[in-house]
Amino acid sequence: MARRTKIIATIGPASEDVATLRNLIRAGMDVARLGLAHGTLDEAAERLKLIRRLSAEEGKPVGILVDLPGPKVRAASFGEKPLSIIEKSEIRLSVGRGQSTAEVMEVDYDGLLEDVQAGDRLSIGDGRVILKVTETSGDHLLARVMHGGTLTGRPGVHVPSDRLSMTAPTAEDLLALEYFLELDIDMVAVSFVRSVDDLRRLPVEQHPAGPLVVAKIETRAAVDDLAAIIGASGAIMVARGDLGNECRLEELPILQKEIIRECIALGRPAITATQMLETMISNPEPTRAEVSDVANAVWDGSSAVMLSGETAIGSDPANVVATMSRIAERADDEFDHRSWASELSDLRLTNRNDPESAITDAMTMAAARALAELRIRTVLCISGSGFTVRSMARFRPEAKILGFSADKRTVGQLTLSWGTEPLHLAEQGNIEERVAAAVVAARDAGHVEPGELVGVLAGTNVHSRSTNVLRLEIVSSAC
Ligand code: PGA
Ligand code: MN
Repeated sequence: MARRTKIIATIGPASEDVATLRNLIRAGMDVARLGLAHGTLDEAAERLKLIRRLSAEEGKPVGILVDLPGPKVRAASFGEKPLSIIEKSEIRLSVGRGQSTAEVMEVDYDGLLEDVQAGDRLSIGDGRVILKVTETSGDHLLARVMHGGTLTGRPGVHVPSDRLSMTAPTAEDLLALEYFLELDIDMVAVSFVRSVDDLRRLPVEQHPAGPLVVAKIETRAAVDDLAAIIGASGAIMVARGDLGNECRLEELPILQKEIIRECIALGRPAITATQMLETMISNPEPTRAEVSDVANAVWDGSSAVMLSGETAIGSDPANVVATMSRIAERADDEFDHRSWASELSDLRLTNRNDPESAITDAMTMAAARALAELRIRTVLCISGSGFTVRSMARFRPEAKILGFSADKRTVGQLTLSWGTEPLHLAEQGNIEERVAAAVVAARDAGHVEPGELVGVLAGTNVHSRSTNVLRLEIVSSAC
């Protein structure tokens, strides 16, 4: 079986050249994540255009995910060489953008002195150094180093999110989003979401007209308001890096499972992110624990697994994607499709007050049943917004999902969906014609063979969101 779980790779200094990008696509990158923390918007736009061109040349759809950094607080640079921060020493924090030393750390956040209070715990560089604030005064904070470590460059400073008065999306996020909306992106991730209102402040149209909105779950508040946030999002990221600062670390694996299950119940793709193959930033092989982490994320029901520093600043980005691809593919092989589908039948949330989605829900459930019973290898979903495809993918069928849409934006957004091969289908009149066109396209592209039994899901009305037809067809050999 081919790999079903999707791979997102973060593009950065180690992976933005033509040769490496091409190798990432060949190694299995399904979605490229563009971060905006470093470099200008124009530089990010150049990368985006280059990925689009290479994706077309390689004949493989690659989704573009722009990640808005949100209120990410950073320290001024500690310099190029690792600088030791000694345990139990005292460090002074002030607002500034100049230079940091082991004694004085400047932080690029104007609200620092107002928001942080004595007793707060600050995590620097994803837990490399932990400080406890001992005193606040007019123009600085004093903190004790609880855990020492080395820092380089501009590490993130994690201020507990319930203290931050700055909310997501920030003014800079909105400017960046406006810029990228002109450039045709498939997905946009929002960092440090705390409530549904944060998502409502995004000036985007509902997908597929606008990008698929990925809410990053990385604050306590988001965990507490999970169902509403998932309901208002197109997809979710379990952002374990910052989430690990906001909750006790031993809660992380449990939260990962809970968040993914809730996404599945609501039919949203879930991304598991951060430190998945972290040691491969410098090593040619992952640790054994990392291999298990990727496989377990697959079995938890992740639609996609994500690489961050591994591909952005690592020594061999294509090797990391190839390694992740092999681990995910092997885990996919062992996926318990049958138990998953029966569990989902209970877990899924059917909204009977919304007949359009309730019809699709029931039809994809019936399709999952028929596919399993007849051991059908391929299901063709003809979808406008991608809703039917995502509803089908939630059942994790053993059958390959071909996600057809006449809307090119939907095709780009389906790069994130589990087990789905996104395909463009030119609009073809009534349902008979559309079903026939999809079967022919699937056959001509080599996805199905003449004489094979396939499932087809479609809607009689192209203007309705609901899928109300399930057909079981034998692929003909005639042209
Ligand atoms: P980041 O988000 O890499 O943008 O911080 C992911 C995470 O926090 O895990
Ligand atoms: Mn984060």
